[in-house]
Amino acid sequence: MNAAPADQIRLLDVQALDLRLSQLAHKRRSLPEHAEIEALNADLAQLRDLLVAARTEESDTAREQTKAEQDVDQVRQRAARDQQRLDSGAVTSPKDLENLQHEITSLAKRQSDLEDVVLEVMERRESAQERAGELTGRVESVEGKVADATSRRDAAQREIDDEAATVTKEREVTAAAVPADLLALYEKLRVQQGGVGAARLYQRRCEGCRQELAITELNEVRAAAPDTVVRCENCRRILVRTPESGL
Ligand SMILES: [Zn+2]
Repeated sequence: MNAAPADQIRLLDVQALDLRLSQLAHKRRSLPEHAEIEALNADLAQLRDLLVAARTEESDTAREQTKAEQDVDQVRQRAARDQQRLDSGAVTSPKDLENLQHEITSLAKRQSDLEDVVLEVMERRESAQERAGELTGRVESVEGKVADATSRRDAAQREIDDEAATVTKEREVTAAAVPADLLALYEKLRVQQGGVGAARLYQRRCEGCRQELAITELNEVRAAAPDTVVRCENCRRILVRTPESGL
């Protein structure tokens, strides 16, 4: 393949712009904010689960408290009725009186036990409320951090995208000036060779594979016409000669 030396040099410009584009894409993918946001979201998911559990405990204990208070009320009402019966004097048989007294005493004991249950449930409810409150605060704080990291990530991406757009435009203009067959070969090699299709021959070294050319190869390159498209024997990339090639 033949191409004017100036077009070959231009290909090096295209290569430099392509490298810049792949660097920008890599930078975009590996912004530290990606990992930061991922870690924060994992924390957030965990905190939200804990919050749901605390709120469930909160509503469960609220129901439990209502039930326990109703139990206390029932016992209290029954004790009040018994007391009324006792005070009314309607019960006269000593055995009935004794039974009534006995029931009033055991109802008092039962009421006291149930009141203890109410207190215990209230304590659990309060601690669930506290936990839910604390977790709500932590969720909000982590949400704030996510929002902050997201806006930093977006700003960094916008900056990268702006630069990439400029480089892409410049690449288009530069590539348009390179002969189609040379550009096609370059594109094919670029895909095959990890993003580098054309390399400068610099001080007898291929800048694509970093190998110094053997004497025989060097002689062949020296003998080649300036518009011959030379390839590196080692990596097969297009080797572009410049005044610094050391020929
Ligand atoms: Zn090479």
